[in-house]
Amino acid sequence: MTALPGRTTLLAAELAWLLRQAGPITLTTTHHDVLGPALQSTTPDQPPRYTPTAGGPWTHTIPATDLPALRAWLDRLDDDTPVRIGTATLADGTGTLLTARSGPQTIRIHQPINTAVEARCARCQQRRVVHPASPAWGHAPTPLCGTCWNRYADARAANDYVDWPDALRNADDDQITCALTSEEPTR
Ligand SMILES: [Zn+2]
Repeated sequence: MTALPGRTTLLAAELAWLLRQAGPITLTTTHHDVLGPALQSTTPDQPPRYTPTAGGPWTHTIPATDLPALRAWLDRLDDDTPVRIGTATLADGTGTLLTARSGPQTIRIHQPINTAVEARCARCQQRRVVHPASPAWGHAPTPLCGTCWNRYADARAANDYVDWPDALRNADDDQITCALTSEEPTR
């Protein structure tokens, strides 16, 4: 997916909604039949989402691995704060930079060229765009598709485990005992 540089302004809550999906997520400016100028978010598994926006045309794919940082940054903003988001190609040709800005708050996500690798996900066994598991998760299958990657990221953020095999590999004795005496650690 080639990145087309440009900028769009929308409310923090609207951007958060576009990004509240399993990644990778491709953001593209488009013209919607009802909404008019809009920002479209596309994921491998869900129907596209649209929110009305104004700004120049651009497109950028955010890898699943970068979504938690972007969501955490958005969480610290008030819902009705305008956010200016867009992408630029780095002059040295090493990739693209996605920038989101709200007043003095800025987050930049660098995306090297050709990060998207398609292979079999070690958890769901589907052939998809995959990412390496984070070493911070302990013994996790790798590589993982966006959906499975997000499952691990969400579970670890909540101090939880994805499923029983994950808990058996990574939970300590106290956590296992606690899980056995309450409920299964799956959602
Ligand atoms: Zn998977």
